[in-house]
Amino acid sequence: MASLPDLPTRGDKRKITNLGRFLREWFKDNRRDFPWREPGTGTYERICVEVLLQRTRAQTVANIYAEFFGRFPDWEEIAQTDELELGEFLKPLGLWRRRGSGLKKLACYAAERHGVFPDTEMDLADVPAVGQYVANAILLFQHGQRKPLLDVNMARLLERCVRPRRLADIRHDPWLQAASSWLVRRGDPIMTNWAALDYSASVCNIARNRCSSCKLRSSCSCLNTNCADAKKFAASRNSPSLSI
Ligand code: SF4
Repeated sequence: MASLPDLPTRGDKRKITNLGRFLREWFKDNRRDFPWREPGTGTYERICVEVLLQRTRAQTVANIYAEFFGRFPDWEEIAQTDELELGEFLKPLGLWRRRGSGLKKLACYAAERHGVFPDTEMDLADVPAVGQYVANAILLFQHGQRKPLLDVNMARLLERCVRPRRLADIRHDPWLQAASSWLVRRGDPIMTNWAALDYSASVCNIARNRCSSCKLRSSCSCLNTNCADAKKFAASRNSPSLSI
């Protein structure tokens, strides 16, 4: 008999709903400001930035933002530019040859269609240089769909707060995929995505957790692991925290 797919339980969903609510509240006073988050930023810039953000710190992308979008104000301009010249602008991000090649392919596709991408995952699978993460960014920013920007940071937060995934690749773990979709099910999905990213960067950082000041600690599965900071405050769990 085939085994049932590993999907969030009702209890998981309740925790994830509460996590999303907490993150949106936290974001109001703690958000990080980046140029692509300014009101009125176009979908071209937002989608393009998500391509640049992969495997790169947000501040590194912010550092080249003005120069890059000053030189490349639309998909057409990228499409008409030689990959080597494009690479010169991308060098500070690392992986610039690969990134330049992918961005150029994406731009050529977009330039022929006035910047409009397909609005389904199935059709986006045929767009060059579009993987699951960028497909979700397109559906979120251009088509207004409730899609998670699921990366290692969002995955870490969900896994610590709810439960660990079972598969190594986050793109293929059914529980994590469903859990991240549930996270953006309520509230403003763009804000929820940014809030998860910022909380992961500012508080639940992979290199330096700030568990002692984290309001999620009472339900965090990290307490049961070897996390040094978590162990430090485990004995003082009487301080205020939020149960999700
Ligand atoms: S308690 Fe620590 S590990 Fe858990 S969510 Fe908060 S910062 Fe992350």
